[in-house]
Amino acid sequence: MAWTWYEGCITRIEHISVHTRRFWLEVEGVEDFAFKAGQFITVDLPIGEKRTERWRSYSIANPPRGGSVLELCISDQGGPASRYFFDEVKEGTGLRFKGPSGVFVLPKDLPEEIVMVCTGTGVAPFRSMIWLLYDSGYEGRVHLIFGTRFAWDILYRREFEVLQEDWPQFKYDVVLSRDEQWTGRKGYVHQVYLEAYGEVAPNRLFMLCGWRPMVDEAKKHLLEELGYQAEQIKVELYG
Ligand SMILES: Cc1cc2nc3c(=O)[nH]c(=O)nc-3n(C[C@H](O)[C@H](O)[C@H](O)COP(=O)(O)OP(=O)(O)OC[C@H]3O[C@@H](n4cnc5c(N)ncnc54)[C@H](O)[C@@H]3O)c2cc1C
Repeated sequence: MAWTWYEGCITRIEHISVHTRRFWLEVEGVEDFAFKAGQFITVDLPIGEKRTERWRSYSIANPPRGGSVLELCISDQGGPASRYFFDEVKEGTGLRFKGPSGVFVLPKDLPEEIVMVCTGTGVAPFRSMIWLLYDSGYEGRVHLIFGTRFAWDILYRREFEVLQEDWPQFKYDVVLSRDEQWTGRKGYVHQVYLEAYGEVAPNRLFMLCGWRPMVDEAKKHLLEELGYQAEQIKVELYG
């Protein structure tokens, strides 16, 4: 299969939490890099010989507002790719990538309610979608349920808190599983939607993003326990 590959350059790096950084990637030779909110790119990293060793995908965390800069939100909690991003990548580092790819995007006919469930960097595609919905004047409800272990690993916290104040249809819940000091919700993302959406509604869409254990558990709860239809659930698996 012939892929279109792009050259990009990291122009800015910022810590967003103890274990996560934001990387801004400028696409070279492109004025407007078109993508859909929720899509990802696949980078070819110098961390192995075979393509399975070298290629890693990352969701685009910024909304499609035109321009040639993509924001990636990357955790250090993995193996070779995480180490490469955290130890080797600096401002000015070149990255080869292909994309945008993926079908984890908002449906054409938007439902009345979208429930976004994620852990860690799984928030990245939702950030892109939430700003797109906001920009386009979406009139339905959006509920972002974000889970992680400790308060220092909450991603884009202030941004979503401010948005919640500004945009009445937007609800933001953070659930922490290990933080003893946390005065907000403790536990896992599952209890939030189980409590809030126990009564099935046909015009509600669940979008789940993150690592397999959380996504599989959420699908099971929604389909088997609560009785939602498979078409009401969209999933992006990070691995
Ligand atoms: C469509 C798609 C989009 C993705 N978007 C992002 C993104 O926006 N940001 C991002 O950081 N990653 C994202 N990933 C994951 C990313 O592609 C890599 O898998 C990740 O960076 C780990 O690669 P690695 O080589 O460091 O570790 P690997 O050697 O590939 O992973 C080692 C193992 O560590 C575990 N692991 C790795 N990272 C984590 C983590 N953060 N939390 C829990 N367990 C983990 C997994 O069980 C994995 O099998 C995405 C994956 C896919 C398929």
